[in-house]
Amino acid sequence: MADTDVSLESLLPRLGTARLFQGVDLTKLEPELQESRLHAIDSGQVLLDPKHLNTNIYIVLDGELMVCLEPKVINPLVRLGVGDCVGELSIIDTSPPSAYVVAAVPTQLLAISKAVLWRMLASQQSMALNLLHVLTRRIRENNVVLLGSMELQREYRNKAETDALTGLHNRVWFEEVFPKQLELCERTGQHASLLMLDIDHFKMVNDQYGHQIGDEALRHLGQLLRCNLRATDLCARYGGEEMIVLMPGADLPHAMVTAERLRQSIAAAVLRLTDGHDLFLNVSGGLAQWIPGTRLSDLIRSADHALYRAKAQGRNQIVSNPLPTDISS
Ligand code: GH3
Ligand code: MG
Ligand code: MG
Repeated sequence: MADTDVSLESLLPRLGTARLFQGVDLTKLEPELQESRLHAIDSGQVLLDPKHLNTNIYIVLDGELMVCLEPKVINPLVRLGVGDCVGELSIIDTSPPSAYVVAAVPTQLLAISKAVLWRMLASQQSMALNLLHVLTRRIRENNVVLLGSMELQREYRNKAETDALTGLHNRVWFEEVFPKQLELCERTGQHASLLMLDIDHFKMVNDQYGHQIGDEALRHLGQLLRCNLRATDLCARYGGEEMIVLMPGADLPHAMVTAERLRQSIAAAVLRLTDGHDLFLNVSGGLAQWIPGTRLSDLIRSADHALYRAKAQGRNQIVSNPLPTDISS
């Protein structure tokens, strides 16, 4: 890094493109420009960082700067070229810079100290206006970066909470959301019922048609569940070929109507295979009504017992655990 004195003769023509000096009578700023310094940095060198207070505004005379969240540049948030300036936010609010500013290539800058900048602004109003434009642009750039990263986070979150095969929510989502829904039911005094669904003889589907068709059947089931449940029902792939549905607002008789309708829709829906065969799936279901004050794990255990009975009684049916005695059985 090297600082040199300014030669006005060579500097003035280079400031023509600088945003900060647009429409500014530079001859009136010669004393202040004379007090500024030329500052050269090599490619990869850090100009500003969040650990050090900044005392200058820098104007890029030649080269390119990158604004990054890390000193090691992976994805620059913004690139600054000839005529752009940097450091204005941190000298106005006297806080350390919020990001790293790194040279992309050997870069030459004009460094204007805070005191000199204030004098320039006081003498040339149009420069104050330019600074406002620079700040507005910076805020907009930051907003774009922020929105982009929120979008990305949402995408990651979606991926993390969705089962890639069925498109249903996955176990991670279930574990976060189901207990919260029960808390809400507790607060609002709503009923809730839980349905565990399991495909009948699914191993035979895999054995007979192969694992890929088995996967296809799971996708088909995911689609049927999404189409046949209310928007307020919560549904997730609990594991393998087992799905779990929480129905807020539904007591056992109402939940039984929904579960039975679901079972019949699944049994009636045909999956046409590429070889022309038609595949039908049957499911068994175990249903349990939530009792205020009980935990999700107890509710699941209760629905699981009912599912076990549905299987034992011949499959392709929904069995409910009567209230409330079966909870501990
Ligand atoms: P039951 O009627 O008693 O439920 O019989 P079943 O054959 O469905 O039950 P079991 O739990 O013994 O077998 C479940 C099968 O589901 C075994 C496993 O290979 C299959 N399976 C689990 N996850 C997947 C998956 O993601 N893709 C495929 N193709 N098969 C899966
Ligand atoms: Mg199973
Ligand atoms: Mg099964």
